[in-house]
Amino acid sequence: MDYSDIADDLTEVLITEKQIHEKIEELARRIEVDYANDKLLLVGVLRGAVMVMADLARALRIPIEMDWMAVSSYGSGTQSSGVVRILKDLDTDLHGRKVLIVEDIIDSGLTLSWLRTNLESRGAESVEICALLRKPDAAKVAVDVKYEGFEIPNAFVVGYGLDYAEKYRNYRDIGVLAPHVYE
Ligand code: IMP
Repeated sequence: MDYSDIADDLTEVLITEKQIHEKIEELARRIEVDYANDKLLLVGVLRGAVMVMADLARALRIPIEMDWMAVSSYGSGTQSSGVVRILKDLDTDLHGRKVLIVEDIIDSGLTLSWLRTNLESRGAESVEICALLRKPDAAKVAVDVKYEGFEIPNAFVVGYGLDYAEKYRNYRDIGVLAPHVYE
């Protein structure tokens, strides 16, 4: 696909690349202060969080470590069920660690709330969440997100790591996918 044609697949550009980077810098300044004297462990959730993780990690002016998990939630179609299967686990021992889960988007919140409990049970000293996007309308569970980028409407969005059927992850802005693409 030629990305000059992507406009045909979107109903609108919701957040531009510039706005994303300004927000990530803003979040990084807060995180630096909160974890100034800690060896913070960033935990990225594959694959959507790759872009946020790469940009947030570079924006942080404190020493950090990075690790990754891949999870899949059991459920029918696009509905998340809250029952999560670990496809790739962390390599890091979490005992006594301060952990920040880095996510692209929170929809129902079921995956993240499961993940937080799971990481806490491994002896982490603290587990907080940083999510670039949040769909508030869809929140089935109250997830305490300490570092939140943008609240967005309840639409399906792509770009900046977010995909539809593995496409659009490398699109630099975040846009709303046009219904004709998935209907
Ligand atoms: P939930 O919060 O457990 O419902 O699941 C969140 C996950 O669903 C995210 O990590 C994304 O992978 C995916 N997701 C939710 N909404 C969107 C969207 O609008 N575009 C692309 N992926 C989405």
